Amino acid sequence: MANKYWESVRVMLGGEPRKAQPAEYTEEAKTIHFYKKSEKQDFGALKLEAREHQKKKYWLKRRWIVLLSINLLFTVSYWFDIQILEGALTASRMLGFHLIDLNSALQVMLAHKHIIVNLFIGTGTVFVLWLLLGGRTFCSWACPYHFLAENAERLHVYLVEKKKVTDHTFHRGVRTVFWALFALMAFVTGYTVFETLSPVGIVSRALIYGPGLALGWVVLLLLFEVFYSRRAWCRYICPIGLTYGFVGVFSPLHVTYRLANCHHEGECRKVCEVPHVLDCIIKGRAPEAQLDIGADCTRCGMCVDVCPSGALQFEIKGLRKIM
Ligand code: SF4
Ligand code: SF4
Repeated sequence: MANKYWESVRVMLGGEPRKAQPAEYTEEAKTIHFYKKSEKQDFGALKLEAREHQKKKYWLKRRWIVLLSINLLFTVSYWFDIQILEGALTASRMLGFHLIDLNSALQVMLAHKHIIVNLFIGTGTVFVLWLLLGGRTFCSWACPYHFLAENAERLHVYLVEKKKVTDHTFHRGVRTVFWALFALMAFVTGYTVFETLSPVGIVSRALIYGPGLALGWVVLLLLFEVFYSRRAWCRYICPIGLTYGFVGVFSPLHVTYRLANCHHEGECRKVCEVPHVLDCIIKGRAPEAQLDIGADCTRCGMCVDVCPSGALQFEIKGLRKIM
C-alpha cells in the first residue's frame, strides 16, 4: 500500500512509470490480460466511438462552469463590494475565514524565514478542502491560467495535426527543480520571486482589478505553448501544481481505471495533460484489475469524457462511482 503512494509521488516528481514485475500481477489481472491477448479488437471502430463519446464532454462543461464561477465570484465581490468574499485566488477571506493558497503561503514563510501563524491557519482550510477534493483538482477546476492554457493547448494540438508546428517536450523532472529553485530564491532573497512570475496570480488579479502590463508575460507564455511546447508552464514549471499534487496523494477523490472495461485504444492519453499517469492503460501493463490514477492527475475528467467503454471513472474511496 505504502509502495503505491510512493510510486505515485516518484512519478509526479519526474520518474518514469515502472513496469510491474510478473509477481506483482494479481490473479484477476492475469486472467483479464490472458483473455485480452486472445481477442482481436477493431481499434478503428473504437476510435470513432471514442470521438462520438468525446463530443458530449460532460465533465468539461461542469468543470468550466465551476472554474469560471469561482473566478467571477471574486470579480463580482470586488466590484459590488460584497464582503462575503474578498481578495484574489492566491489569498482571500470568505465569511471571515482566511483562505491562503498553499504555495503562496510557503513562499511567503520561506521569504520571512519563520512560520506566520495567521498564514498557517489560513492554509489549514485550503489544505483540508483540496485534500478532500483531490489536490490538483485546484489546477483544472479553479486555476484561471488553466482555462487559458487548455484552450491554447487545443490550438497547439490542431497546429501539430496540420503539421504547422512541432511539439517539443522536456524532462518532467524540471518541474521539481523549479519547485526547489523558487523555494530557494524566496529563502535567499526574502522576496517571493515566483509570485511575480506566476500567471495564476497575474490572471486572477487582472480579472478582479483590471488588466495590467504583467498580462504581457501571460501572453508570451501562451504563445510559447501554442507554437513550441504543449502545456509547458503546467507540465514543466508551475510549483503550484506540484504542491497541490502532494496534497492529493491521500485524497479520497480520484479517477479509477478498470482493466476489464479497457480496449487500450489510447484516446485518454491523447487528451490528458499528464499522460504519464495513464501508463496503466497500455496493453499488458496494469498489475491489478482496478487501479487509482496517480496524484499528478488533475481530476479534469477529460479521460472520463473520452473513454468509450467506461474504463475510467471518478470515484470517492468507499463510495460508488460518481459517473
Ligand atoms: S500547474 Fe499551475 S498554472 Fe497549471 S493549472 Fe496548475 S496551478 Fe494553474
Ligand atoms: S488522468 Fe484523466 S482526469 Fe487525470 S489529468 Fe489525465 S485526463 Fe484529466
